[in-house]
Amino acid sequence: MAAIGSGAGLRLVDHHVHGVLTGELDKAGIEAMLSESSSPPPPGTSVFDSQLGFAVRRWCAPVLDLDPLAPAADYVRRRLELGNSEASRRLLSAAGVGTWLVDTGYQSDAVTTVGELTELSGTPGLEVARLESIAEQLAGSSGGAGRFADEFTAAVQQAAATAIGFKSVAAYRGGLDFDPGRPRPAEVQAAAGQWLQQLESGGPARLEDQVLIRHGIWSALDTGLPLQLHTGYGDTDSRLHRADPALLHDFLLASQHAGAPVMLLHCYPYHRQAGAMAALFPHVYMDVGEALNHVGARSAAVLAEALELTPFHKMLYSSDAFGLAELHYLGATGFRRDLARLTGELEADGAWSSSDVARVSEMIGAGNAARVYRLSDP
Ligand SMILES: [Zn+2]
Repeated sequence: MAAIGSGAGLRLVDHHVHGVLTGELDKAGIEAMLSESSSPPPPGTSVFDSQLGFAVRRWCAPVLDLDPLAPAADYVRRRLELGNSEASRRLLSAAGVGTWLVDTGYQSDAVTTVGELTELSGTPGLEVARLESIAEQLAGSSGGAGRFADEFTAAVQQAAATAIGFKSVAAYRGGLDFDPGRPRPAEVQAAAGQWLQQLESGGPARLEDQVLIRHGIWSALDTGLPLQLHTGYGDTDSRLHRADPALLHDFLLASQHAGAPVMLLHCYPYHRQAGAMAALFPHVYMDVGEALNHVGARSAAVLAEALELTPFHKMLYSSDAFGLAELHYLGATGFRRDLARLTGELEADGAWSSSDVARVSEMIGAGNAARVYRLSDP
């Protein structure tokens, strides 16, 4: 029987990740980052009593000089003693990731920039531009409804000069069952008029208009750069039942000859549906980022389910880590361990050869991302 390794040394591109929080954190601040809930846990309970909390104690504690499975209180005490910057530096560099592809569109004032994340981790980072943020920044200086469509398209094209790809949070702004086609210019103009008027009367700058979101998505597809779509599990702002990637079926049909890859992010608990989309459509890719951290010791089972149908050239690695460097570290080291366990079992069963294991692991870890995002040195 072949030995099942830890996957140490597997090259990884984290194709969807965020920065870490700048400034000091307190106990509540650390715990808040370990949950997607916007509420603290009930009085007398701890966020650490979760698969993710246990994974932090098991795997991150040694990076902070503690024994594996140190009590949560000791972990928090040690992290505060080291300070956020030193704890982040240790965890980010120990993740050993080759390249970060950084979503800069969420709470960008609170977390490190791409440059700061690169400096802190010693790992190069590239920007993924968020379409809704581009529109929201543009709205304040728009020349009016008649010009907004062209202004938005021009801003997307300008972002394409430096960004490695685009991201849309359409799942959070109405759901993935959006009208699949490219909106007509008159529709975009009417929608822009309404939105700009709302903003002028003091409405929130948050873009929720479905026509404008679709205009952004189609403008991004026109650049040919990969388009990332949030799907599956998210925070309380998203509606899980409207984030099933299978709801994108008609959009994927409509966009399959547009010339841009579509990257389904997270996907859990719809990772099997995402695998089906990736198997059906030549331009569709998927990952199980975020979920693998949150399901902790069950992550190898979820990864195995994701790999049931997803073609091996269609799966990528991401952590979706945000704010807390534990998530960047757990994502990378856990993924290497799970992939090694899974492929090692397939090899032990005689289903895969050792060269299959090495080749497919490299594809999923970094090779697919390098190909799709055209990275010269992943
Ligand atoms: Zn994310």
